[in-house]
Order: sequence, then C-alpha cells, then structure tokens
Amino acid sequence: MVGDEVLDVVFRRHGKARRLVLRLNATGTGVLVTVPNGVSRARALDFTERSRDWIEDRVKARGGLIHLLPGHVLSLRGLEHEIHHAAGRRGVVTADSERCLIHVPGELPHVPRRLLDFLKSEARADLTRASRRYAALMGVSFRRITIRDQRSRWGSCSAAGDLSYSWRLILTPDYVLDYVAAHEVAHLRHLDHSARFWRLVLTHCKDATRAKNWLRFHGQDVHRVVT
Ligand SMILES: [Zn+2]
Repeated sequence: MVGDEVLDVVFRRHGKARRLVLRLNATGTGVLVTVPNGVSRARALDFTERSRDWIEDRVKARGGLIHLLPGHVLSLRGLEHEIHHAAGRRGVVTADSERCLIHVPGELPHVPRRLLDFLKSEARADLTRASRRYAALMGVSFRRITIRDQRSRWGSCSAAGDLSYSWRLILTPDYVLDYVAAHEVAHLRHLDHSARFWRLVLTHCKDATRAKNWLRFHGQDVHRVVT
C-alpha cells in the first residue's frame, strides 16, 4: 500500500534471471517481481518489503490514480476537467469545456459507468470523423471501427480493413488522436512501417512528429485513469 493506494504485487519465477528484480508494471498500477530459481518465496517477500521506499518514489513520480468519481480531474481532449456529479439533474453526461467540468447526472453509484460510456462514445465520434477524413484524403476505405481498452497499443488496422482504437485517445490532445487515426488509415494502403507508409502519413498529418513525441513522453499518463 502506497498512500491510499493498494498496489498488486505479482511474483514471477524466471529460470534465466540472475537476481531479484523489482519494477512497476507498464501502467504503474502494480509491482512485478522477477524471482530467479533457487531464491525462496520468503526472500522474495522480504526483498519486496525492503524496496518499499523505492516503490513509493516511483508511484509519486507516476502521479496518483484517477477514478471516474466526483472531484477527480481527468484530461478530456488534453484539457483538464473536473468530474461533477449533477445529482438533481436528469439526462445525459455533458462536458463544459469553458468551465472545465464534466457533469454526470443520475445516481452516484452509476457515475463511473455513465462517465465511461460517455468517454467511449466521444472517442468513437472523434475517431470516426478523423478516420473518414483521412480515408478520403488517402483514397482508401475501411469497414468498421471498434473502440477498445487496449493497454499496449493505440490502434490497429486489420488486413480486412477494420480499424480499432483505444478509447483512451479521447484523453489526449486533439492532434494526438488525429495522428493515430492518420496512422491506422495509412495502414489501409501500406500494412507496414516502410518509408512509403511514413511519407503518406506525413503528407496528410502535419502534426505527426509532435504527436508521436507526445505519446512517447505522456502516453502512459492516460492509464492512470482507472475504470
Ligand atoms: Zn502502425
């Protein structure tokens, strides 16, 4: 436990490991401990316990987890919005980007689910619009768009012409979502990352380099949002 957060600890036996190694998992929500053969479970636990300060430092550097609950602040299209429970109100979830608020009506226990549905449907709308625009520019067509919660990738394109994207792209600045759409749509023409592929992306998406850098340096941040 770090602050008010409970971290999962996963121990993994690894025959080739030379020593005990401890690190945060890819999303920063848990700890992975690699245990070489011949090292006892008790020693691995003791090692983890003694690494507590190191873990705490890493978790602080990562920033706190963001829950889909009133009072938490999440980034919508790259702009910070506070989640507000509009208790007395009925109707749909709305984002007020002037005042940096997301109003979630309905009963409190339903807030996380309703907000997640809202974020996914906003992601779908933005990604559909961007994909259509790039498909027209690049002279290609796609079949359907699926919105997922993929941890390891932002999007993908199948040989059959189906596009899939992470809903978390709605948390990133507009130009980043836009670039990911350009990237996946360009795969409808070139299913590789060849020079021709990149030329096609860069011809139509001027912010591609800036967006790639954003994803490299801030991409993991979007996984702080817990669903
Ligand atoms: Zn690609």
